[in-house]
Amino acid sequence: MDLQAVVDEIVASMSPRLGEGKVADYIPELARVDPKQFGIAITTVDGQTFMAGDASTAFSIQSISKVFMLTLALGKMGESAWKRVGREPSGSSFNSIVQLEHEQGIPRNPFINAGAIVVTDMVLSGHKPREAIGEFLRFMRYLTDDDTVIIDSKVAKSEHLTGYRNIALANFMRGFGNLEHAVELVLGVYFHQCALAMNCVQLSRAGLYLANRGTNPLTGFSVVSPKRARRINALMLTCGHYDGSGDFAYHVGLPGKSGVGGGIMAIAPGKASIAVWSPGLNKVGNSALGSEALEMLATRTGWSVFGH
Ligand code: GLN
Repeated sequence: MDLQAVVDEIVASMSPRLGEGKVADYIPELARVDPKQFGIAITTVDGQTFMAGDASTAFSIQSISKVFMLTLALGKMGESAWKRVGREPSGSSFNSIVQLEHEQGIPRNPFINAGAIVVTDMVLSGHKPREAIGEFLRFMRYLTDDDTVIIDSKVAKSEHLTGYRNIALANFMRGFGNLEHAVELVLGVYFHQCALAMNCVQLSRAGLYLANRGTNPLTGFSVVSPKRARRINALMLTCGHYDGSGDFAYHVGLPGKSGVGGGIMAIAPGKASIAVWSPGLNKVGNSALGSEALEMLATRTGWSVFGH
């Protein structure tokens, strides 16, 4: 299969539509991003990268960081992590608080904000916030094998200034005894992980361990066991797009995780890791053109996990 032709075709069909959707505007750094951008990169398990469009432009990975923090937390806590966070789709928006009251401060899954905040609290255990942020950044550089990956401190600061709902979620869970650390400390780390800047090529490389039974084939680094990689993929498929997860599975059929910066990482198990980015979001906060591009890709490649 000519994957370069596939990504070129996707970019060509997206280019007349650049600017569709609504760019996140809750912080100035995201509101200011030019909406008329689209990038895609595929890195296959045999180590080739295919890229097109704005695949080398860095963007804020935002909630895609939740997958990598979960990987770190599971490494630290093992299966006991699941006592504090569930594994069910939420059916609610990414920053919803409603379910927490009924379920004693245990969030539905690690990929909504409440769940990710608990996961960050686990990674923070035994560390100062600065060390936990450093551990996360080192992990991302290790996964991409690229030391130029950075955290955009302006984005982190703005997240802090406008993070009222995340502060509410964290306080609510602390009230139920489901946060070990003070709210300010946990959110200090959470806002920094959201502010990681990466481009599509880097992000597609970072996800490769999930496509290749837990081992990054480019570096040979074993990141997680095959079983854990499979399970993280299952969670991405069922919960990676908030209340749009069912629709993403229906149209694309790949485990994926979106971020409000307009990025989506998708995993074709045994085949490739894919990153797309376009800042305009659909109604549920996932990249509008990015979701459609992945549907096209799944159709062209036959990579849907449900068969072709
Ligand atoms: N920083 C955002 C928040 O916490 C991340 C949400 C997202 O990407 N959906 O609200």
